[in-house]
Amino acid sequence: MTYRSGVTSILVIEDDDAIRDAVTRGLRERGHAVAAARSGLTGLEHIIHQGPQVVLLDLGLPDIDGLTLIAMIRAANDVPLIVITAQDDDPTMIQALDSGADDYVVKPFGTDQVAARIRAVLRRGGRDLTPSVITVGGLTIDESTRTATLDGRLLDLSRKEFDVLVLLASRRGQVVTKRELLSEVWQQAYGGSDRTVDVHLSWLRRKLGESAAAPRYLISVRGVGVRLVDPEGDDA
Ligand code: CA
Repeated sequence: MTYRSGVTSILVIEDDDAIRDAVTRGLRERGHAVAAARSGLTGLEHIIHQGPQVVLLDLGLPDIDGLTLIAMIRAANDVPLIVITAQDDDPTMIQALDSGADDYVVKPFGTDQVAARIRAVLRRGGRDLTPSVITVGGLTIDESTRTATLDGRLLDLSRKEFDVLVLLASRRGQVVTKRELLSEVWQQAYGGSDRTVDVHLSWLRRKLGESAAAPRYLISVRGVGVRLVDPEGDDA
């Protein structure tokens, strides 16, 4: 796999053990260096002394008000801040963004969504060291220009088809479930129909010049999901 995910140092400040552990594990699996803090002040100390490249910050912390903490972090440096919030609470989010947060995610969220937001804040800050081009066999996907080519030919993909392709290619060889696709591409963690995914996969297949009956890149795993492989590679 020629996709090289650059190592980004990330600090997760979150007092909820389950969420902190899940985010930490998910980002580590993607090759990032992740530190975790249970309280706002330990987090602030880490930011000042260790200088992480990105901070994920829960607003509901036991020791300090989240908005106050954002202001304290901003007084120290301009590290990109992504706020984690329990609900889609507009006034709080607006306050957080006004206080200096760069973006936010609403619980429950998937690691792919957080990873994408991390890439986005790094890109906006011009601090992105991660190559955004994924190559699998004859397929080349450029996330920065949102274009994909197959054997040098530009693919005419819709926004959702492109997002599906990026998610599958970034997890090359691994089965991605329809539920994950619904959650990451359609932001439907609950509900949503597998049919939506099936339809987009079939369109994507057609554009890749293959079919479910004669697959090349997109291998369906019955009852589970789909995985993207290099048809000429070891993972096919
Ligand atoms: Ca909390």
